[in-house]
Amino acid sequence: MVNWRGSFCVPTRIHYGLGSLEVLAQIGIKNALIVSDPFLVKSGMIKNVTEQLDKANISYTIFSDVVPDPTVAVVVSGVAAAQKILPETIIAFGGGSAIDTAKGILYFYACINEEKNEESKPRLIVIPTTSGTGSEVTDFAVITDEKAKAKIPLRDKKLMPNHAILDANLVRSLPPTVTADTGIDVLTHAIEAYVSTLASDFTDALAEKAIRIVFDYLPKSYQNGNDDEARVRMHDASTLAGMAFTHTSLGINHSMAHALGGRFHIPHGRANGILLPYVIDYNSKEEKAAVRYAEISRLLGLNYMSDIYAAKELRNMVIKLKENLEMPSCFKETGIPEADFLASIEALAATAMRDSCTQTNPRVPTQEDLEKLFKK
Ligand code: NAD
Repeated sequence: MVNWRGSFCVPTRIHYGLGSLEVLAQIGIKNALIVSDPFLVKSGMIKNVTEQLDKANISYTIFSDVVPDPTVAVVVSGVAAAQKILPETIIAFGGGSAIDTAKGILYFYACINEEKNEESKPRLIVIPTTSGTGSEVTDFAVITDEKAKAKIPLRDKKLMPNHAILDANLVRSLPPTVTADTGIDVLTHAIEAYVSTLASDFTDALAEKAIRIVFDYLPKSYQNGNDDEARVRMHDASTLAGMAFTHTSLGINHSMAHALGGRFHIPHGRANGILLPYVIDYNSKEEKAAVRYAEISRLLGLNYMSDIYAAKELRNMVIKLKENLEMPSCFKETGIPEADFLASIEALAATAMRDSCTQTNPRVPTQEDLEKLFKK
C-alpha cells in the first residue's frame, strides 16, 4: 500500500530572540543588496542593519524604492540595481512589501544570470520588521500586476529564504493599527492553513501554536508596543504560521484579499481581517471544514458539543478580537467608495477565482459564491 501524502521541509535557518540581528555580521556576507522601504530608510531604522555590516567591513548597496503591494515595475528596477553590483546576498529588511520585492528581484536576477553561471542565485536573508506575513519562511511572493489591477502570488523554491532573523527589537516601533492589521494576517494564515485541503499533522502543530499566541498576545502588543514578551511571541507566531502555510497554501480569504488589495490598495491584513468571519461562516457549511474550525475553537477552550456551534463560536471570537483591536468590520469603514466597490464585485470575484489560494480552500466556491461574499 502507498499512502504518500506529502513532504515537509523548512530549509530556512531561523535566528530568533531580542538582539538576534547581531548574527548578520557572522553569516559571511561579502557584497549585499539591501531591499527596504523608504520609511525604514528615512526613519534611520535601516542603521540597525548597516551598522552590523559596517562592523564586519561588508560592502552593500541600499535599494529603497519599495512600495506597498509591490509592483512589477519596482521589481524590474530592483533587478537593474542588482545587475550593477552583482550581489552574492540579498537582504530584505522590512514588512511583507520589502520582503516580497526582494524575492521578486532575486527570482528574476537569478533567471537572467542562470545561463552564465548556475550558482548565480544570491543567498536571501530576511529580516522582518512587521509580525505578519511569514514571508521570511515561505516560497511565496505576492507581486501586483498594475495593468490587471491584481496581486499575483508567485511560488517557486528559489524564493525560499536561506536565513530569517526574528529580532523583535525591530517591531517595537510599529504603530497600533499596523500591529493590528499584521497580527490579524498571522491569524488568517494560521486558520487557513489549518482548514486547507493540504493540512497535515505537521502543519497543524504550527498553526495551532500560532493561533494560541495570537489570541493571547496580539491584544497585549496592540495595547503596549513596548511589551517585549508580547512582541517576541507575535514575531514567533508570524513565522510559525508562515511555516504552516508554505506547505498548505491558503484559501479564499487570501484570494479575496489579494483581489481587493490589487484594486483598492487597502492594507493586506486589514482586508483579511474584514473577510475572516464571513469566510469562516461560508466554509462551515461544508461539514469537514466545520469540524476543523470546531477543533480550533476547542483548542481555545470553548466547549461546544456541536461542530456547527463551535465553528460559529470561533467566528464570534475572531469578531471580538477585532473589536478589541478597533479594526473595521466592513469595507465601507476602510474608505473604499461604495459605488466603485459594488461596480467591481464581478471582476473581484473573477480575480479571486483564478488565485492559486482558491484551490486549497476547504469548500469549493463558485464565482457566484464569491460575489455574494463580497456583497456581504
Ligand atoms: P508592509 O510591508 O506594506 O508595511 C506596512 C507599513 O508599515 C509600511 O508603511 C512600512 O513602512 C511600515 N513599517 C514596517 N515596519 C515598521 C516598523 N518596524 N515600524 C514602523 N513602521 C513599519 O506591510 P505587511 O503587512 O508586512 O506586508 C504586506 C505585504 O505582504 C502585502 O503585499 C501582502 O500581499 C504580502 N504578503 C506576502 C506573503 C508571502 O508569503 N510572501 C504573505 C502574506 C502577505
